[in-house]
Amino acid sequence: MSIPIHKYDVVIVGAGLAGCAAAREVAAAGLSACVLTKLHPLRSHSGAAQGGINAALSAEDSIELHEFDTVKGSDYLGDQDAIRLMCSKAPETIRWAEKMGAVFSRDEEGNIAQRPFGGQSSPRACYAKDRTGLTLLQTVYEQAHRDGVDFKDEYYVADIIYEDAKVSGVFAYNLVDNEPMIFNAKAVMFATGGYGRAFKINSNAHANTGDALSIVARHGIPLEDMEFVQFHPTGIAGSGVLISEAARGEGGKLFNSEGERFMEKYAPNKLELASRDVVSRAITQEILEGRGCGEDKDHVHIDLTHLGADLINSKLPELRDLAITFLGQDMIKEPISIAATAHYSMGGIPCDVDGHVRRNTKELIEGFYAAGECACVSVHGANRLGANSVLEALFFGRHVGQSIVTDMKNNKIALKDAKSTDVNNIIARLEKIKKSNGDERVPALRNELQDGMTENAGVFRTEKSLLVQRENLKDLKRRFENIRIDDKSKIYNTDLQEAIELGHMIDFSAFIVEGAILRKESRGAHYREEFQVRDDENFLKHTMTYMDKDGELTTEYMDVILGNHELAERTY
Ligand SMILES: Cc1cc2nc3c(=O)[nH]c(=O)nc-3n(C[C@H](O)[C@H](O)[C@H](O)COP(=O)(O)OP(=O)(O)OC[C@H]3O[C@@H](n4cnc5c(N)ncnc54)[C@H](O)[C@@H]3O)c2cc1C
Repeated sequence: MSIPIHKYDVVIVGAGLAGCAAAREVAAAGLSACVLTKLHPLRSHSGAAQGGINAALSAEDSIELHEFDTVKGSDYLGDQDAIRLMCSKAPETIRWAEKMGAVFSRDEEGNIAQRPFGGQSSPRACYAKDRTGLTLLQTVYEQAHRDGVDFKDEYYVADIIYEDAKVSGVFAYNLVDNEPMIFNAKAVMFATGGYGRAFKINSNAHANTGDALSIVARHGIPLEDMEFVQFHPTGIAGSGVLISEAARGEGGKLFNSEGERFMEKYAPNKLELASRDVVSRAITQEILEGRGCGEDKDHVHIDLTHLGADLINSKLPELRDLAITFLGQDMIKEPISIAATAHYSMGGIPCDVDGHVRRNTKELIEGFYAAGECACVSVHGANRLGANSVLEALFFGRHVGQSIVTDMKNNKIALKDAKSTDVNNIIARLEKIKKSNGDERVPALRNELQDGMTENAGVFRTEKSLLVQRENLKDLKRRFENIRIDDKSKIYNTDLQEAIELGHMIDFSAFIVEGAILRKESRGAHYREEFQVRDDENFLKHTMTYMDKDGELTTEYMDVILGNHELAERTY
């Protein structure tokens, strides 16, 4: 079968903040850039970011404090070279976004307003009301368009072309008519976002199925620190839709069914503004001990009524709408019902500070880059601080775009011509899935996966629960081979797409569970009931897990890059 081959200097997968920012840098340098995305760019999950983007701008704040808070927030697992780079470039990133046309909310003196977020020494989150991500995404997308980036919306990337430690393109098909094609490039960058959909209660867009992680892992490329999944404290009860940390930043207080402001017990200094892992565990603990609210005692309340209608309408209008829509509760008049929700993925595709993807703990892959939530640089270590991720996506998106341009100028990457036969394996796999006529149903398997991950690999983990989940995943992988696809047509075949995405979710979830089994300590978002304290002696290291052709996993560890900030106990 002959497959059309399109050639570019750079192909970027993903049109969220990281992908658009990188593409803009590449195009502005005069290189040809194509962005492939399974959604319209403005529907990328970046557009859902509500609360803010961090930068030390005020006189009371400093880059050192931003750096310190991030290192501490990461429970000392973040690499301090990458953290230093990101924090020192944060003010410039905000000014760049503003120059590009992003309109930030202002304080009374006309400066960019900043609100406090968890784990911050000083109010640091710049925002555009509670629509920060959408404002930034629209701006960067427009500018990338203006600079001539070729956006291809509704193209599903199903594989990379990878041989001899070099990536030379991707295999994709058009979701409209299933037409397959190869995108051959000197450089390929993944900016495919997070993977929270592996959990039942989550705040993520339906598209956040972590495709890229499994695509990469199936080629024997490692994934890093996958056990660290962030559970955000304030998801709308029942659905997990996010109530941004801005709600606590503006002064929201948490109460249990006994009317107790329980954060006084768990974080006496920072209270609701302790880091996310601390607040999520506190909420879950209250619920597990029977002090949850409502008939099922499965949530707690966040009270914002004391802030008044003016503040809520001017600074949190979107959050108010969400609570009215999903709960029928108006935060101006009454407390609203929330519980922890899977939100952000600290782990991902391992790369160095310039975005080069690692082949193992020592070598890099030629022509392959990653940035944004799918990448593990690692700036968030074991736990990300609120408003540091939009910063990561925007800063590292630009930075990795520039790094690609530099590598090209220095002739470090050359075009290796792709051939139709390079994609024989993936075509055979997709054909097999398309023809599946077994008796397992994709939605049922997906529910089982999500239920199991939330129950067994969620906020609290034990050896027993994790081993159960490891077996569940093996079983799901086996049963996936026996699914049924009813829709055999080519036009917008969402039946097929959901099946492919489920296959990806099963594969990368095994990495989350494996890393969690092996990490016999509690650090940041990873909490093991049998090992409740951090163990720097044995586990101050990054997990690097590899999958072989039979789906078996092996793990090695990589040193954490330390710096000025010395190890200390993390208290709030
Ligand atoms: C509800 C919510 C609120 C948040 N609020 C904040 C906040 O206030 N502050 C903060 O710092 N962080 C926040 N975050 C986190 C932050 O928004 C994200 O981490 C960040 O925006 C991710 O950007 P990205 O560019 O890496 O990926 P995304 O914006 O998720 O984009 C991923 C892109 O990859 C594409 N893609 C994926 N797989 C494929 C495939 N197989 N083929 C083709 N295309 C593919 C998608 O189409 C999409 O364009 C929030 C997250 C959520 C879920």
